[in-house]
Amino acid sequence: MTIDVSWLRDHLREVTDFPRAGIAFKDITPLLADPAAFRTVVNTMAGAWVDASVDRVVGIEARGFLLAAPVAYCLGVGLVPVRKPGKLPWEVAEQAYVLEYGEDAVQVHTDAVGAGDRVLVIDDVLATGGTMGATCALLEGMGATVVGVHVLLELGFLGGRATLEERDVRSLLVEA
Ligand code: AMP
Repeated sequence: MTIDVSWLRDHLREVTDFPRAGIAFKDITPLLADPAAFRTVVNTMAGAWVDASVDRVVGIEARGFLLAAPVAYCLGVGLVPVRKPGKLPWEVAEQAYVLEYGEDAVQVHTDAVGAGDRVLVIDDVLATGGTMGATCALLEGMGATVVGVHVLLELGFLGGRATLEERDVRSLLVEA
């Protein structure tokens, strides 16, 4: 049974020219503040993977943490933060990726996932797919299996899904 979650769109706020000119920023704070909307997002994400034998839920800095944490709790598995360089205090593995202008990287603690772990990766928005692709490559490089990727909002016109190739990519909302 597929539940209609299109009403969640009304709980997202678009902020133009943030954080810089030309960006239409999708602000999820109204959704987080609404108990029914927040509960629906968490239950829908967790419910999609309840039979997938997930060992860890990975959240991408920073808004991904806010969704990944309750999903991990619901699934009864551990939470792993993937962060921008310089934020994690212990030994890290890193994956660099190319941005429109320049480079960025994601890091994870080397003991956060291991060979054979089945991981679910969560973020708020899938845009170009650069961050998600680097996160998946980082985890797979450590021997984990990415069972799936789940985002609240997919900006379909940016083509992120195609960059994630054969991985199982789900989104609650799609902006075509
Ligand atoms: P990308 O690597 O281009 O797929 O960008 C994804 C990351 O940037 C995610 O962690 C999002 O939180 C953030 N992001 C990208 N575009 C937007 C947007 N229009 N509104 C809000 N967050 C965005």
